[in-house]
Amino acid sequence: MSGLFTAAFLRQIGWDIDVYERSRVELVGRGVGITTHPELLEALNNSGAGLDELGVEVHKRIALDRAGRVIAEKHLPQILTSWDRLQRLLRQTIDAARYHLGRTFERVEQDGSGVVVHFSEGDCERADLLLGCDGIRSGVRAQVAPTIEPIYSGYYIWRGAPNEADLRPQTRASIFPYFTFYLPAQQQVIGYPIAGLNNDLRPGHRRYNFIWYRVADAQTLRQMCVDEAGHAHKYSVPPPLIRKDLIAQMRADGEAILPPQFLDCLNSMRPFFTPIYDFSAPQLVFGRVALIGDAASSARPHMGFGMAKAGGDAQALAEALGSHDHIEEGLAQYNRLRQPIGEHCLQHGRKLGAHLGVNLRTSQERAMWKLLQDDRAMMNWIAVPNFLAAYQ
Ligand SMILES: Cc1cc2nc3c(=O)[nH]c(=O)nc-3n(C[C@H](O)[C@H](O)[C@H](O)COP(=O)(O)OP(=O)(O)OC[C@H]3O[C@@H](n4cnc5c(N)ncnc54)[C@H](O)[C@@H]3O)c2cc1C
Repeated sequence: MSGLFTAAFLRQIGWDIDVYERSRVELVGRGVGITTHPELLEALNNSGAGLDELGVEVHKRIALDRAGRVIAEKHLPQILTSWDRLQRLLRQTIDAARYHLGRTFERVEQDGSGVVVHFSEGDCERADLLLGCDGIRSGVRAQVAPTIEPIYSGYYIWRGAPNEADLRPQTRASIFPYFTFYLPAQQQVIGYPIAGLNNDLRPGHRRYNFIWYRVADAQTLRQMCVDEAGHAHKYSVPPPLIRKDLIAQMRADGEAILPPQFLDCLNSMRPFFTPIYDFSAPQLVFGRVALIGDAASSARPHMGFGMAKAGGDAQALAEALGSHDHIEEGLAQYNRLRQPIGEHCLQHGRKLGAHLGVNLRTSQERAMWKLLQDDRAMMNWIAVPNFLAAYQ
């Protein structure tokens, strides 16, 4: 997404820009939900991607008790979209000839006036700039700033997106139209409606984005990352390889912990887990190399702001390059404006993560933990718009 946003914005200021994606096939069918924020809508509009059929609008948030009864609610209209929809909107902004699948960044050389980028496939390209839009495990960042590594938060999420049609009538009526919370001790369960496959927004054809935060120390996570064949993965396990005993244990926990509607979601979906990491690079520019989006910083997903930050980074970079005669000055402005935003997102994500009660060290963190034990407080803090205003 950062790569596509960056291409769209830089093309508007007259740059020739090529996107190199390591995947050999089009990135489609990733069924995860994305909360939208005003900054994301602005970036989609300004980049030319537009907001056409963006997603499902919900009008309120609700919190459930263990029996599935509504114990709190909050009016908060919000559009919930999906990774697939955003990818499709952004993908159409780029000329097919400038989007190169199956090209994997390997290393970069710099000579002061440009870069030579080498790809694992054996070829290389010369350019004025290399923009590392290659995600939280960025290979570009690993070369220019090898000491910066994402930090494990101490918790992970089980996720999935059951089809609306597969859910029970009671689940469809009581939680499907809403942004729903269930908050047992040291856990969070969050759900909201998103489009169905091929961006189908028709009632009956949508999906419900299900997220269940669970605490696990680093040792437990390492064991979880051993797959069905006994192979240990470093960060996470591809969904089809997740061990059956882990899924069986998770489903048993679900029976014991979840309200009936969320249990119905769990029983109707193919679950996978994502460990939560975060970091913020103290510097985004390294000569003629700049980091964008998750490669530059990645906050815990409690704000649902990663996509908005990616769009904002790309837009700020184009504005900075477009308003300076010298590339270095433009890059310096980009660094000055966007590095603090990544830092604020990092801090805010950690603040909201206090709800899970992991590694609370300061009195402020303990106070935040206490505040967020209340369902209403969580509805007021999680994935709400304009949270950055508090940092300006
Ligand atoms: C659990 C979870 C929930 C989230 N929820 C939300 C939400 O509700 N709202 C929201 O806005 N954001 C959310 N995010 C964050 C969001 O997904 C990211 O911030 C967003 O995708 C921007 O990422 P990116 O484009 O910078 O990196 P990525 O999406 O990681 O993309 C990096 C790309 O680079 C490619 N690549 C990697 N290495 C190479 C290489 N060596 N050579 C060539 N290509 C390479 C990858 O294949 C990939 O296509 C969530 C994240 C997580 C983990």
